Amino acid sequence: MIDERLRHLIARVPKKYASYYLYDEVTLDNSIATLTGAFHKEQILYSMKCNPNRAILKRIFSSGIDADAASLGEVYAANDCGVPPDHIYYSAPGKTDFDIANALGQCILIADSLNELRRINNLACHKNMKALIGIRINPSFSLTGSIGDPSKFGVDEEQFLAFLPELKTLSHVVLIGIHTHMQSQLLDEHLLSTYYKKVFSMAAHIQHTMGSPLLFLNLGSGIGIPYCRDESNMDVFSLAKQLEHLRFVREDSFAQARILIESGRYLAGPCGWYITHVIDTKESRGKHIAIVASTLNGFARPSLEHLVTSIDPSAPSREPLFYRAQSTPFFVLNETDEKEKATLYGNLCTAADIIASDVLLPKLSVGDALAFPNAGAYSAVMTPMQFSFQIKPGEIYVSRDGTLHV
Ligand SMILES: *Cc1c(COP(=O)(O)O)cnc(C)c1O
Repeated sequence: MIDERLRHLIARVPKKYASYYLYDEVTLDNSIATLTGAFHKEQILYSMKCNPNRAILKRIFSSGIDADAASLGEVYAANDCGVPPDHIYYSAPGKTDFDIANALGQCILIADSLNELRRINNLACHKNMKALIGIRINPSFSLTGSIGDPSKFGVDEEQFLAFLPELKTLSHVVLIGIHTHMQSQLLDEHLLSTYYKKVFSMAAHIQHTMGSPLLFLNLGSGIGIPYCRDESNMDVFSLAKQLEHLRFVREDSFAQARILIESGRYLAGPCGWYITHVIDTKESRGKHIAIVASTLNGFARPSLEHLVTSIDPSAPSREPLFYRAQSTPFFVLNETDEKEKATLYGNLCTAADIIASDVLLPKLSVGDALAFPNAGAYSAVMTPMQFSFQIKPGEIYVSRDGTLHV
């Protein structure tokens, strides 16, 4: 799984980096091409929160993908990368007045509550403008078809329908679209297309009750990537086909609506590798121990996964970080054929900084590199980097021609 190209790239990274993220444009381009190719009739949005690395943003946005921003800072970053305001969708709970006032005119605000919708109206009134906005809906159904759960995100579908008479009295907002997002990291396209189908009927009902056409319908994310060795990719072309059928059936209802699909991890996850090195080895009462540079404080996924699953192996997923035990495979880059059972720790002064215990690996020596795949999404951004003044890992972007941007 570690190919020659990657080995060559790693060999070229300056030795001063004991640990770093490597973002490979070739892989990123493949993910972009697959997703935009499959959903060529829809508009893909990049969920920036999974990785706001500037080079990654630029590459993604220059390929015609729009922005799913989760903060005012992300709205600004998308703007900086040249994304026009009407292609930036700002959806997050708990926006402050400051966030809203500054975002108005810079993006399409997605109201996350009825209170927020009223605040957007007031702030737009102060600015003497009429804001085109969306609203995030918490559907009355769940992903599996049962009744909808309470949620911190969005407005319950039935509550929104009851609110429509008041909405008509808010003179500084025009509601042009709806946003839903149920769950990330699905690998079964049928589950997702069944969900899409229900979202389409919900949206048709909302549109009918509103009496004006929706200009966008954001179906959210859900498209996962394989983390564990026994998982495989979702067939996004099959999902796109099923979506095309749903759209065909509903063609009359949504003639004017842009259909949006969000993706963070599918786009950015596979292009990233986390590379770190063995700093020290020791024996302790029969255990072979390796100390590795910057894990809990550089790439937290293995430590957090270990922490959670060692307490409760059947613990439910904690979106968006980790899903199951053994979902963080890694590769040892050395030349030895000798195998040895080892326990790997990071170099922080806390026992929580553990990567793997008693795993059979090629015998580890000081200086050996370890490579963790799928580190392009929810990796650097989900990792605490302030602990004990350790040096942050580098972020290195490799463009198609092999140039390293450090
Ligand atoms: C985080 C998030 C996403 C991105 O999910 P991925 O699994 O990274 O594709 C999309 N939409 C919303 C609303 C999110 O919160």
